[in-house]
Amino acid sequence: MNIVILSRNAQLYSTRRLIEEAEARGHLVEIIDPLKCDIIIEKEKPTIFYKNRYLDYVDAVIPRVGASITFYGCAVVRQFEEMGVFTIAKSDSILHSRDKLKSLQRLSKAGIGMPKTVFTNYSRDVEEVIKYVGGTPCIIKLLEGTQGLGVVLAESKNAAESVLEAFNGLQARVIVQEFIKEAKGADIRALVVDGQVVGAMKRQGKEGEFRSNLHRGGSAEIIKLNTDELKLAMNAAKVLKLPVCGVDMLQSGRGPLLLEVNSTPGLEGIEGATGKNIARAIITFIEKNRK
Ligand code: ADP
Repeated sequence: MNIVILSRNAQLYSTRRLIEEAEARGHLVEIIDPLKCDIIIEKEKPTIFYKNRYLDYVDAVIPRVGASITFYGCAVVRQFEEMGVFTIAKSDSILHSRDKLKSLQRLSKAGIGMPKTVFTNYSRDVEEVIKYVGGTPCIIKLLEGTQGLGVVLAESKNAAESVLEAFNGLQARVIVQEFIKEAKGADIRALVVDGQVVGAMKRQGKEGEFRSNLHRGGSAEIIKLNTDELKLAMNAAKVLKLPVCGVDMLQSGRGPLLLEVNSTPGLEGIEGATGKNIARAIITFIEKNRK
């Protein structure tokens, strides 16, 4: 097969691992920078022009589109879809998962447990908002944040008010969320491939840190998920129509609670912590599903 990895950086661990496993199974792999693609829209003949040639021979696409180039990256993925090329993540699903608010709305409607969450358009009545999420401490989160940046733990009502005011001043959109104390600064990342959980790790924030992101100095170890956690991960993937994704959740007194679903999960942390060959599972999924 001719497999294209849509990525701006061929040196990233995830990209290198996907190339390695695809080549080991006899496929040809190309790294294509989505920002260097010209999308050619023409009746019955959609195509993509890249570095003096047309990408009309591609069998499957692996989008590894970073948050900063979501719009253009998804336009390229959509074009491949129009050309009848198999993609492990559809453009609409990537776009949907990048919108934290929209995802939480859709997932809660599907009955998936999550921390109590309020989207506030800078309500004057901060007290009411805080009361709804169970009082302080509470979490205030930038809707556009990634890697734990823009996630704040407000210890008191005054702190919550000032943080909301500051974000308001920056015209940043935020959600206010119940703080899940029982999680103890840890979260779970379940890696879903072909709709099934193929590996899971528990990430623990460093001493004194409530955020468990590996980018924030957290550490990770393999974990065996219980039935509820497995169900939550697979349901979330199904609802957002992402057969390959990373599902983040918190362990709470009332069972697992969903944090977010990542359409471009990194492979380094999860392969390192679990010792599992996730990259190969993704290539096998493509082999099984390509039309
Ligand atoms: P990002 O997408 O920036 O990683 P997250 O929503 O995943 O943002 O939050 C980052 C980390 O902060 C999580 O991995 C988790 O450890 C912690 N965290 C986030 N929300 C909550 C919450 N409601 N209660 C307790 N801890 C939380």
